[in-house]
Amino acid sequence: MRDHFEIRDHDAAGRIGRLEVPRAGVTVETPALLPVVNPNVLTVEPRRLAEEFGAEMLITNSYIIRSTDRIRDRVLEKGLHDFLGFDGAIMTDSGSFQLAEYGDIDVTTEEIIEFQREIGSDVATPVDVPTPPDVDRERAERELGTTKQALADAEAAETGDMLVNAPVQGATYPDLREEAGRHASATDLDVFPVGAMVPLLNSYRYAEVVEAVRAAKRGLAPDAPVHLFGAGHPMMLALAVAAGCDLFDSAAYALMARDGRYLTVSGTEHLEEMEYFPCSCPVCAEHTPAELRVLDGSDGGGDADQSTEVLLAEHNLHVTFEELRRVKAAIRSGNLLQLVDRRARGHPAMLDGLRTLLDHADELEETDPVSKDAFFYTSHESARRPEVRRHHDRLSRLAVPDRLLLTESDAPSEHDYDAVWRVKPPFGPFPRALSETYPLTAEVPERSDGAAQVAAAEGVASLADANPEAELTLGHDDWVPRAVDAVPDRVETENLRHLGR
Ligand SMILES: [Zn+2]
Repeated sequence: MRDHFEIRDHDAAGRIGRLEVPRAGVTVETPALLPVVNPNVLTVEPRRLAEEFGAEMLITNSYIIRSTDRIRDRVLEKGLHDFLGFDGAIMTDSGSFQLAEYGDIDVTTEEIIEFQREIGSDVATPVDVPTPPDVDRERAERELGTTKQALADAEAAETGDMLVNAPVQGATYPDLREEAGRHASATDLDVFPVGAMVPLLNSYRYAEVVEAVRAAKRGLAPDAPVHLFGAGHPMMLALAVAAGCDLFDSAAYALMARDGRYLTVSGTEHLEEMEYFPCSCPVCAEHTPAELRVLDGSDGGGDADQSTEVLLAEHNLHVTFEELRRVKAAIRSGNLLQLVDRRARGHPAMLDGLRTLLDHADELEETDPVSKDAFFYTSHESARRPEVRRHHDRLSRLAVPDRLLLTESDAPSEHDYDAVWRVKPPFGPFPRALSETYPLTAEVPERSDGAAQVAAAEGVASLADANPEAELTLGHDDWVPRAVDAVPDRVETENLRHLGR
């Protein structure tokens, strides 16, 4: 891997980075969204993608260009940037997607890499095999072998300063994804797409998308730029960024528009059924749904640029780029997981995605900043955030006096303990001196829930396990039975509510 990706800010496993694309002479800020441009149908002119939407990079398909007589020679002659009218970075796909859809394509990695170089691509792709989900293991392994060979062929090719993708496959086998990530990372290729995600994304299997990304990331080097191939719905951008993805591509904006579908950060609506637009992009500010429905450049007299489909595509792009900016702002402020939490309320499958991400809180903890502005407890998923995990690890290293009272209420005015520590769900106990340090400054609801209480009990257990000689007493505010049960037996517990405190 070259030294072409610089990470600036972290939040959970999400990051803001800078990807140098030497052949284009540009540096692209990540997370980045690459609109998919069909070389045959420019739904929104690439020049406008840059000027009006802020796209720094786009993706098109070199296989389609190569196999379409009408455009191949023009692209070869003018170069891809001139042909599309786009000065930014251009990534090209290789036909792998067509291979997955139709089972066969007539080009080798060697040939398509050479073609991508000839047309002036900035980031090329070999012919990997996008193994679909749920296939048997033997097939997943066999096809991964073919993908590894494609990476080797790409490494051997003459690429100059063009970057090259090293797709990570492995279907729904996390160990294969991890191995594929490790293998790809050891090549001298540059960008690492997690592939064959479209079938999972189309059926809202976000939990498995997160598993595949996390598995690939375990194998990849920490500073590898990761592309979630085929992902561009605004609803899942925050989740995918928090899982560690840096690049996205959206065909959704155009494909959905063709179908009359309107994207939002909490799902997809049908224009046909809408009475109001919940958006203030230029399209939605200037039209009502009823007005947008009857605009149709195709039924004669209308302006093709003002057709329902094009304007819907423009709204879809606006809402997607807006969400991407919101994700970046959240990383800078350290509240990306709060944004993911909000998005997870849009669809139960998104909630599964968030819960799966939090299964990997120990991995997220490795890159999560030690200090941020604020921790807001906004749902019981907040109890599983990496900050809680980190506090519990720290508890096992804190020095503890012989007799210690842990309490959710104020310290009693008279007592014979050696010290009195605060207890705050979901973190659990801590010395009062740490009250003003992150994340113990967290804003938590007055009425804690069972998940926060259980997490606090786990903090008590962590402290007790590390200090087997200490005599611990816990005063809790009417915790649920499963939280009380999670406190080790040797810790004496008092329900403050029963004591009238
Ligand atoms: Zn809009």
